[in-house]
Amino acid sequence: MKPQISRQELEHWLSSTLQIDRFKDYCPNGLQVEGRAEIRHIVTGVTASQALIEAAIARQADAILVHHGWFWKNEDPCIRGPKHRRLSAILAQDINLYAYHLPLDAHPEWGNNAQLARVMDWTPDILPDGTPQRCGPDQLIWLGTPAWECTIGELSTDIAQRLGRKPIIVGELDRPVRRLAWCTGAAQGMMDAAVAAGVDCYISGEISEPTVHLARETGCAYIGAGHHATERYGVQALGAAIEAQFGVPCTFVDIDNPV
Ligand SMILES: [Zn+2]
Repeated sequence: MKPQISRQELEHWLSSTLQIDRFKDYCPNGLQVEGRAEIRHIVTGVTASQALIEAAIARQADAILVHHGWFWKNEDPCIRGPKHRRLSAILAQDINLYAYHLPLDAHPEWGNNAQLARVMDWTPDILPDGTPQRCGPDQLIWLGTPAWECTIGELSTDIAQRLGRKPIIVGELDRPVRRLAWCTGAAQGMMDAAVAAGVDCYISGEISEPTVHLARETGCAYIGAGHHATERYGVQALGAAIEAQFGVPCTFVDIDNPV
């Protein structure tokens, strides 16, 4: 018999492992849409878009596990247009939707920030108790050192090669980088915490107009490495952890996104 896990057991394991109660989030973390009771195949992805749902249906998945789910704070709750199409597709196929937002950014091993460091070969600062040193709102920003003592230009080239996407850079390319701070996704608004931590460069996914001025005026370089590009790795690591724990196969489907 193929390995399987019940819908409730998977939710319990994910939610306790990711410590969802520690976070005040902009969306519900956990099982967002209930589907069939037994799960034998999971499709993972960054965002629960229509394309990811179609990919899960084509692969006959019993569950979808994502970083960006649905039901965001301040969004129109009416089930119309694209939202109706997504929801009716997933309900018609009886597929479960699990979503973990901030808890999946923050997890010390499988989180997006931990996994970005692994992919980039950055060394996170580790506290005496063995946990990573972090700062900023919800302690979401990680601090550490680059793979080797490099310049802003060399760091940007390395990011482009390893993430497969050209980053946006604000800063002098020939300036050395000894200390780094990073937070995946759209965390450009937290840059002041990175500046206060005294790093040479802050890396996040997106960039806003004020980010440019803050970088210029503080001398802390900013690299926008892509929201999607920086958040592809947490959910893959979580899928690998599910496979190791329960033997249930998880297939990552990358729906490319230029942002
Ligand atoms: Zn995100």
